Amino acid sequence: MTSVDTIIRSAPGESCAPELAQGPWTFDLGTPGYGPGASMGDVIPTGSPRQGQLPAEYQRASNDELHERIRAAKATLGDRVVVLGHFYQRDEVVQHADFLGDSFQLANAAQTVPNAEAIVFCGVHFMAETADILAQPGQSVILPNLAAGCSMADMADIDSVEECWEQLTAIYGTEPDADGRVPIIPVTYMNSSAALKGFCGRNGGIVCTSSNAATVLEWAFERGQRVLFFPDQHLGRNTAKAMGVPLELMPMWNPNKPLGGNDRQGIEDARVILWHGFCSVHKRFTVAQVEQARAEHPGVRVIVHPECPMAVVDAADEAGSTDYIRKAVAAATEPTTFAIGTEINMVNRLAAEFPQHEIFCLDPVVCPCSTMYRIHPGYLAWVLEALVRGEVLNQITVSDDVAVPARVALERMLAAKP
Ligand code: SF4
Repeated sequence: MTSVDTIIRSAPGESCAPELAQGPWTFDLGTPGYGPGASMGDVIPTGSPRQGQLPAEYQRASNDELHERIRAAKATLGDRVVVLGHFYQRDEVVQHADFLGDSFQLANAAQTVPNAEAIVFCGVHFMAETADILAQPGQSVILPNLAAGCSMADMADIDSVEECWEQLTAIYGTEPDADGRVPIIPVTYMNSSAALKGFCGRNGGIVCTSSNAATVLEWAFERGQRVLFFPDQHLGRNTAKAMGVPLELMPMWNPNKPLGGNDRQGIEDARVILWHGFCSVHKRFTVAQVEQARAEHPGVRVIVHPECPMAVVDAADEAGSTDYIRKAVAAATEPTTFAIGTEINMVNRLAAEFPQHEIFCLDPVVCPCSTMYRIHPGYLAWVLEALVRGEVLNQITVSDDVAVPARVALERMLAAKP
């Protein structure tokens, strides 16, 4: 099947931004947003790591040459390196991955190779941070392009969350109720900076993934009267709603407004306070697309990711994590038409892997996650060949003052059982 990258290069007008057809290095220097793709309009926060210019030889090389150089470098390095590829990466990168998965699956996969000196994470910045938090001492985690951030993770920075926490604590106090439940528990989605995971670890909170968000919220409600959920409002809302929390008890916290844009009563009554964050990829899916899929493909099975807006999740047949979507397609015994609401690279790969089914992306416009798309085989070849020379480029490190409490929040998640 034709890769998303090839489609973009051969028919740039069919994608959400014709500039996608250019190499990502075009956008590494001086671009205010993340560059073309689904989160191109999202601002890169000040202080985010910046990628320097990729050496010209990697920019000029053909894909065939880059693949050959990547294979040769991997063969030389052998078990000293492990390459991790996220589901949303382009096929041209995924073909070199030793493991393919979602962010948490990949962080766990890295732990199965404790002797690898270097973990090359073909994903985005928060994923490399998580891998570093869980890595063995002496292992280096490498992000091939430092500009591969995540605009959703950027929407909750540690200063704004701490300021929010101060305001909430001033209202709720810190005393537990008669059942021993503290006033509020912070819950961060895996798609957040290490600093926020550390914040949760320090404040009795926990991390969740899109697979275990309901289990984690149950864990939190056993220990707290309410939850502050960040950064993704949609995952928080969709999960809490399915658990029976009324929408009116889920105010949204906008960090740019006093009390997050709420009145005191709304905050006092809240069960889940939702941070004003979202994924620019999953925000593109609409109810109209679901209706169109149903009209054009009678009997279609619509599955969307819970980062999609609530109305889209409600209109779909099912909602679940990337792992859920993959398993649902794999488990279908009869030829089925699937309309999938998640990132295009993953949808197209499913379509190639399961040709007995008709599988298409709910969004008819080809629009990859722009930050994931920053990882091009040129950057992978660059960091691998540097490793062969004994140089570690683009290392992501999380300092112990953050990593230690972040590990506590991650361990609470692993211990939480349905
Ligand atoms: S798909 Fe959304 S949540 Fe995932 S990296 Fe891209 S912007 Fe972030």
